[in-house]
Amino acid sequence: MSIRVKLKLTLLAMVIVPQLLLIIVALLVTPIFQGKVHVFKTYEVNQELLLHLSEVTGEVKYVASHDPDRFKEPEYVQSVMNRFEQWNSGFILTEGGEVTASPNWLADTAKQTESTVSKAQSADNIKIGAENYSIHKETFTYSDGSAGEYTLLYNYEPIPVYMRPLIFIALLISIGVTHFVLSYLVSRSLIRPLDELKGAVEQIKDGNLNFVVKPTSNDEIGQLGTAFEDMRSRLKTSIDQSLQYEENRKELISNISHDLKTPITAIKGYVEGILDGVANTEEKREKYIRTIYSKASEMDKLIDELFLFSKLDLNKETYDFQSFDLHRYLSDYMEERQFDMEKSGVILEFVPAANVPVHVTADREKLSRVLSNIIDNSLKYMKVLPAGREKRVTVSLKEKEDCVKVEIQDTGPGINKQALPHIFDRFYRAEQSRSSANGGSGLGLAIVKHIVEGHGGTAEAASIEGQGSKIAFTLPKSMSKEATVKKVEENFDH
Ligand code: ADP
Repeated sequence: MSIRVKLKLTLLAMVIVPQLLLIIVALLVTPIFQGKVHVFKTYEVNQELLLHLSEVTGEVKYVASHDPDRFKEPEYVQSVMNRFEQWNSGFILTEGGEVTASPNWLADTAKQTESTVSKAQSADNIKIGAENYSIHKETFTYSDGSAGEYTLLYNYEPIPVYMRPLIFIALLISIGVTHFVLSYLVSRSLIRPLDELKGAVEQIKDGNLNFVVKPTSNDEIGQLGTAFEDMRSRLKTSIDQSLQYEENRKELISNISHDLKTPITAIKGYVEGILDGVANTEEKREKYIRTIYSKASEMDKLIDELFLFSKLDLNKETYDFQSFDLHRYLSDYMEERQFDMEKSGVILEFVPAANVPVHVTADREKLSRVLSNIIDNSLKYMKVLPAGREKRVTVSLKEKEDCVKVEIQDTGPGINKQALPHIFDRFYRAEQSRSSANGGSGLGLAIVKHIVEGHGGTAEAASIEGQGSKIAFTLPKSMSKEATVKKVEENFDH
């Protein structure tokens, strides 16, 4: 419930509840106390009223039965009427059916009131104006034999006079209780969550971003709590991300330094060997120079990969998207590689898609980089296979519902389970490749992942150790240039 509605309901309750309580108290208290307990002084007032009325009633009764002719004395009748009127009651006298005395206030009321009174039976209750009266009628006979009747109108209150202050007190108490209870409930529902939020803000101020805020209501404070929690989790993600970036940066610098240092140290060593005359034969010198050349090429390749990777990482590398038939493209690519694969004793096989052509929108040059990075890895890691083991690389093209999948399967040593989830990470090299002479920069598959994602696709790997590895990537089927750019942007945002 929103705070606005809560406050409105509270205000409404503050008006209605005391009244309800008052009615309940009045209904409960009236019959309990009426005429039975000396509660307050007012009770004595009420008793006095009853006493006087019973006194004057007794007197009227006595006169009617013992000395009815006194009702013919105007002074006496007037005095009786006055005594009744003093207690807001009335005395009516008739002789032979004719009204001989009636209170003035009765004459002031509506005409039909008099007939209501005359028609009423003894012990009836009637209402005259706003007042309630109980009727008591008695007949008697005057000494001359004429029929007389007197009617007593007792003004009675449904709530006795002595109850009035009690009800007033009950009203005050009920208002007080209602206000207290409602204020407590409303303030509790506002202050408690606000306190929790304050606690959360302090936690964040102290740098604890793991403190989860759990909103307990759906009102405005609950919504504030949800927004706050959202802000906390975003802040945490952003700080974690910055820390991760910082960590990556440090790791990158340390990896680059290490990877550049190793060939440079080797080159220095060989150059010193030549200068110091260790390479004292022509044959040795040539061997040293060849090693220097291969180390320099290794460095060149590393710098080249590093350069491309950093451009991809900073989103500085632009893509030249074109729509073309991937089947044709792959066939051409395989044909180009056939020679050098055969030279290495590797069978290169192509399994085309069921339906050709398969159109994709991609950057031809970058796609060639993806394929060579994956296939070069297969070549590189298959070198360690014992002689006689079949070396085969199978490239398959599969058409899926909304994308195209290229799978490159080799019969190499495979990738162990622990390494598999990390092979697309930058500078990641599984232990065996780290120590082997084949070990590369550890950037090859990270570049593959970057380029594939830059196309709006995904890259994945599967392997059975000892049997081979399968690196696969998807590319979206041909779509408009704008749609491709949009998809790529979504990928990068993600
Ligand atoms: P590297 O330059 O070390 O090859 P990559 O990023 O290309 O770096 O590959 C990451 C790691 O994944 C490699 O070090 C290697 O352990 C493993 N790997 C990749 N391709 C293959 C493969 N075809 N067969 C076995 N291991 C592979």
